[in-house]
Amino acid sequence: MELVVERLEAGYGEMQVLWGVDLKVEKGSFTVVLGPNGAGKTTLLRAIMGVVRPWRGRVVYRGVDVTSLPPHRKVAMGMTLVPEGRRLFPELTVEENLVLGAYSRGFKGVEEGLELVYRVFPRLKERRGQKAGTLSGGEQQMLAIGRALMSRPRLLMLDEPSQGLAPKLAAEIIELLARLRDEEGLTLLMVEQNVAAALRRADMVYVMEQGRIVVSGPPDKVASIEDIRRAYFGL
Ligand code: ATP
Repeated sequence: MELVVERLEAGYGEMQVLWGVDLKVEKGSFTVVLGPNGAGKTTLLRAIMGVVRPWRGRVVYRGVDVTSLPPHRKVAMGMTLVPEGRRLFPELTVEENLVLGAYSRGFKGVEEGLELVYRVFPRLKERRGQKAGTLSGGEQQMLAIGRALMSRPRLLMLDEPSQGLAPKLAAEIIELLARLRDEEGLTLLMVEQNVAAALRRADMVYVMEQGRIVVSGPPDKVASIEDIRRAYFGL
C-alpha cells in the first residue's frame, strides 16, 4: 500500500471535522474521495499532508508512520498536495511558477522536472513565457498540477482540481491525471464534489459524509448504490 489512513481524527480548535477516517490507497491507483460541501474532504487531505495536525489515528506512507511529520518532510518522501484554489503566482511566468515547485528539492533536477511537466502538459510548454495570471482556468489548474510534479512526487493528492472548470475541461484534467498514473506510475488521491468524469478513471472510490467514510468500493459498485447515484451523479 502506498498510503494507509487509520481512524484519523482532526479538526479546528474545538470543532472536530474528521471522525475516524479509514482509507487505503494502492500503489499506482487513482483513488477518489467524493462528498458534499463541508464533508471534510479538504481537511482529510490537509491532515494526511500534516498541514492540519491529526488529533488521533495514523497516517502510514509506504510502511512508515508519518502521522506527526511536518509537510516538508513528507514532500521529501514523495507526498505532495495540490491545494484547492491553485495558489499560483500570477505575475510570474508559467516556467517561473514551475521552477518554484522544485524549491523543496533545493532546485535539484529542474531540467528533468520541466521535461516531465512539458511532456504531460504540452500546452504549458507553448505558454512557458506567459504570465500565469493570463492563463485560462483549465491551464491554471494544469500549472498547479505541474508545479506539484516538480517536487517529483510518488503520491499526488489533489483537492477538487475540476473546481470552477467547465465540464469538458474538468474531463480533460481527469484524463491527464489518468495519464500520470498510466505512463508515469504515479499514485493519485483526489477529493471531488463533482464526479462523473472522475469515476470513469478511478480505481477506487470512497464516499465521505460528515467526517466519516460511508461507502467505499470500485466505481461501478459505488455508482450503482441508489442514494449515491442521486446525490452525486445527478441520475
Ligand atoms: P468543500 O467542498 O467546501 O471544500 P470539504 O468536504 O472539503 O468541503 P472541509 O473544507 O474539510 O470540507 O470543511 C469541513 C468543515 O470544517 C466545515 O464545517 C468547514 O467550515 C470547517 N473548516 C474548514 N477549514 C476550516 C478552518 N481553517 N478553520 C475552521 N473551520 C474550518
